[in-house]
Amino acid sequence: MELKEGIYQVQDLPLTEVAQEFGTPLYVYDGKKIVAQLQNLKNAFSENQVKVKFAAKALTNISILKLLKKHGAGLEAVSINEAQIALGAGFTKEEILYTPNCVDFSEIVAGVDLGLNINLDNLSVLEKFGKKYGSTYPIGIRLNPHIMAGGNYKISTGHGNSKFGISIYQLPQIMQLVEQYKIVINGLHIHTGSEITETDVFLKMAEILFGIARDFPSLKFIDFGSGFKVAYKEGDHVTNIYDLGLKLGRAFKEFYHSYGKQLELWIEPGKYLVSESGYLLVNANVVKATPSVTFVGVNSGLNHLIRPMMYDAYHEIVNISNPTGSQKIYTVVGNICETDTLGADRKLNEVREGDILAIKNAGAYGYSMASNYNSRFRPAEVLIWNGKAQLIRKRDTMDDLLRNQVVVDLE
Ligand SMILES: *Cc1c(COP(=O)(O)O)cnc(C)c1O
Repeated sequence: MELKEGIYQVQDLPLTEVAQEFGTPLYVYDGKKIVAQLQNLKNAFSENQVKVKFAAKALTNISILKLLKKHGAGLEAVSINEAQIALGAGFTKEEILYTPNCVDFSEIVAGVDLGLNINLDNLSVLEKFGKKYGSTYPIGIRLNPHIMAGGNYKISTGHGNSKFGISIYQLPQIMQLVEQYKIVINGLHIHTGSEITETDVFLKMAEILFGIARDFPSLKFIDFGSGFKVAYKEGDHVTNIYDLGLKLGRAFKEFYHSYGKQLELWIEPGKYLVSESGYLLVNANVVKATPSVTFVGVNSGLNHLIRPMMYDAYHEIVNISNPTGSQKIYTVVGNICETDTLGADRKLNEVREGDILAIKNAGAYGYSMASNYNSRFRPAEVLIWNGKAQLIRKRDTMDDLLRNQVVVDLE
């Protein structure tokens, strides 16, 4: 979103006009930004021909998946349903990596039946897998490196008490199962969490992985997961993707030379690819001044964007209807019967009832975490591509709320 000639625009389309055409609340994605982010990653890692697997849970709209596929991304699925959606969007089974956690073994079998790349992250599952498939289906393993990394404990997945991955301290048990069932390990994977800004953390993980990788002669890829942080507000510390690409790429190359064959370097960003592309446009229903706080109550809330309440995430908010209005302090809240503060004590251009506010960084974990809480409809989604705004998901209707309810006879 750029402020040009006093109007907030995406690809030269005024966002207030997009809001008018499709109504609010509305998720709007800038397709050009998504493709640019993908290209950044490819450029940063070019030497090693990185394979970028988009973490589909961040934004699971089929049109967005198709856009990423068209520009050369693969896909990371965490559920068998995500994998099915990805296949439907045109990804090949080779391009999909499936990394489920705590699923029933039948969902692993389903992944094998679809021919996906799969990471296992539990010893008991690895044993079941070995018994059923032996050496017939090469498999990856997700390791827990015991590194506390990332923004906070809730989004860090690589620390010792995390439910994710097989602990690197259980390597002897992994080796024992591999030998017993002749399991072919074709990939090693770590994903330590979200919002890691220091290249050194990735390099440290890489060193651990390289040490372990020497024990597995059939590797095809090493997957460094994700956790690339983007800016949520001005001056935010972000992951320097070029520094990372250069240093990790160099270390990787050195490693595979000593390993004896060229391996593929995989990464699986969600947030990095789509966060900044997305805006949640909402209507200021009411301005409510109390003796201590001036609230702006909008036609959305934790039912549509839960990150501020769930992770204390900061999302910048802009009054796109009044770019030149004098600035005042507001607390922006939703209309849900919960405390659903989208932004506290924000300096916004004067908000009048009926103004449209844009909530930024809404592309990742926005719509995909939305619900129908309070029996409200989930928003519509719009993609701006080639300077045109197109509907890519309709707003819910009353039918969607009632579809699966079964009314029983109480007589
Ligand atoms: C969520 C997830 C990602 C993506 O994380 P981001 O912080 O959005 O980049 C990657 N890999 C796995 C296994 C995940 O669960």
